[in-house]
Amino acid sequence: MSYVDKIIADIEKKNADQPEFLQAAKEVLESLRVVVDSDKKYEDVALLERIVEPERIVQFRVPWIDDSGKVQVNRGYRVEFNSAIGPYKGGLRFHPTVNLSIIKFLGFEQIFKNSLTGLPIGGGKGGSDFDPKGKSDFEVMRFCQSFMTELSRHIGPNTDVPAGDIGVGGREIGFMYGQYKRLKNEFTGVLTGKGLEWGGSLARTEATGYGLVYTVEEYLKSIGDSFKGKKVAVSGSGNVAIFATQKVQQLGGTVVSMTDSTGYVYHEAGINLDDIKEIKLVQRGRLADYGKKHSDAVYKEVGNGSVWDIPADIALPCATQNELDLENAKTLVKNGCKVVGEGANMPSTQDAADYFVANKVAFFPGKAANAGGVGVSALEMSQNSERLSWTFEEVDSQLNKMMVNIFHAIDDASREYGMEGNYIAGANIAGFKKVASAMIDQGIV
Ligand code: NDP
Repeated sequence: MSYVDKIIADIEKKNADQPEFLQAAKEVLESLRVVVDSDKKYEDVALLERIVEPERIVQFRVPWIDDSGKVQVNRGYRVEFNSAIGPYKGGLRFHPTVNLSIIKFLGFEQIFKNSLTGLPIGGGKGGSDFDPKGKSDFEVMRFCQSFMTELSRHIGPNTDVPAGDIGVGGREIGFMYGQYKRLKNEFTGVLTGKGLEWGGSLARTEATGYGLVYTVEEYLKSIGDSFKGKKVAVSGSGNVAIFATQKVQQLGGTVVSMTDSTGYVYHEAGINLDDIKEIKLVQRGRLADYGKKHSDAVYKEVGNGSVWDIPADIALPCATQNELDLENAKTLVKNGCKVVGEGANMPSTQDAADYFVANKVAFFPGKAANAGGVGVSALEMSQNSERLSWTFEEVDSQLNKMMVNIFHAIDDASREYGMEGNYIAGANIAGFKKVASAMIDQGIV
C-alpha cells in the first residue's frame, strides 16, 4: 500500500463521522501522490500523519440569554490546525449547520490557502451553530460576548488571529473585539475584518471577491483573453458574490445571476448591483425582492432548476460548500462554460471538480481563488503591527500582485508535475510544499 493510501485508510477509520473533512483531506492527499510517494523523506518524518491531525481542537459551551430572558446554549469551536509557517489564521462561521467536520474541513483547506498567499500565516478555523439570522442586535451581542469570553483564552495576535466567515460580518467582529479588549485590557490585532476606525484594513471587504476575479483575469490574460464581453454566472449574494460581481462588471463582463438560500435570479441583461446591495446588505432581505423589481429578470425558488442551468462562459460559485454537483457541472460544460473560479470554500463536489478538470475547463479551487480574503487579513495584521493604515490603492495593488503570483505558482506546480492545467493539483502541491518544508525544518512537533 502506498504512503498516501495508508493515510487515507487511517483518516477514514478515525474520522468516519466527518464527511466534509474526509472529502477535503482526500482531495488534497490524492493530488500529493506525485510528491510524497516518490520521496521517502515525507514518510520518514510522518509528515502526512501530522498534517491531517489538528495541532489543537477547542470545543466549548456558549451560554447566552435571549430577549425573552430565556437561557440559550450553543456550541463553539476553534480548530488550530497548523502553525508551521505562522500564527493560526482563519475565519469564524456562525451558521446552524456548523459542526466539527465542517470546521475541520475549513481549517484543513486554510493551511494550504494561507501558504499560497506567500504570507506567514498558519491554518485554523472556528465558529458556532448559532444562527444570527432573525436575532436582535442585543442577542447577537450577548452571544458574541459569551463566545469570546471562552475563545479569548486560546487566541492572541501572535498565536491565533480569527476573522469573519458566513454569518460573521463587521457587527459580530465588533462585538467580539470589544469583549476581547475588555478581558485582556489591550488593543491588539487579535481579529481581522475590524472596522476602519479601529484597526481594520481598507479593501478587506472587497478582497475575496476582487481576488477571485484577479486570479481568473490573470488566467484569461495568459491565454490572450479577458473578461470583456463574457457572460458570468455567480452564485451567492453575500460578501464574496457582491464584490466578485463588482469587479467583473468593472472589467467589462456581464454577471447574469445571483442566488441566496431561498432561490436564484437570472437577469440576462446583467445584474443591477446597486439593487442587490440595497436588498442584501441594507434591508437584509431576499432575492425574490430583486425579481419583483426587475420585470425582465427571472426569479426561481429553490427546487425549481438551478443557477448552473444558465448558459455562461464563466461560473463563479460564491455561496457555500457542495452547491455545485456533477449534474450541474455537466450542464455548465454542455452550455459552453470554459472557466470556473471558486469564491466559496469547496462549492463544487469532488466529482464535479474532477469533471471540470477532465473536460479541460480551467477550474480554480477555492483554496487558491478565494485566498485574497485571508491575504488582505494578513495585510491587516501587518498594518496593526506597524500601527499604520495603508490606502485602498496600496492594499488593492498588493492583493492584485498576490493573486497574480498565486495563479503562476499553481500553474507552474501543475506543469512541474506533468499535470498542466490541473489547478487543483497545482494549488495543493504548491501550498503543501512550503508547509511541509517548514514542518521538516522544525522537527517532530
Ligand atoms: P455571506 O454570509 O456574506 O454570504 C453567503 C451567501 O451564500 C448568501 O447569499 C447566502 O444566502 C448564501 N448561502 C449560504 N448558505 C447557503 C445554502 N446552503 N444554499 C444556498 N445559498 C446559501 O458569506 P460570504 O460571502 O462571506 O462567504 C461565502 C463563501 O465564501 C463561504 O463558503 C465562505 O467560507 C467563503 N469565503 C469567504 C471569505 C470572505 O472573505 N468573506 C473568504 C474566503 C472564503 P442567504 O442570504 O439566504 O443567507
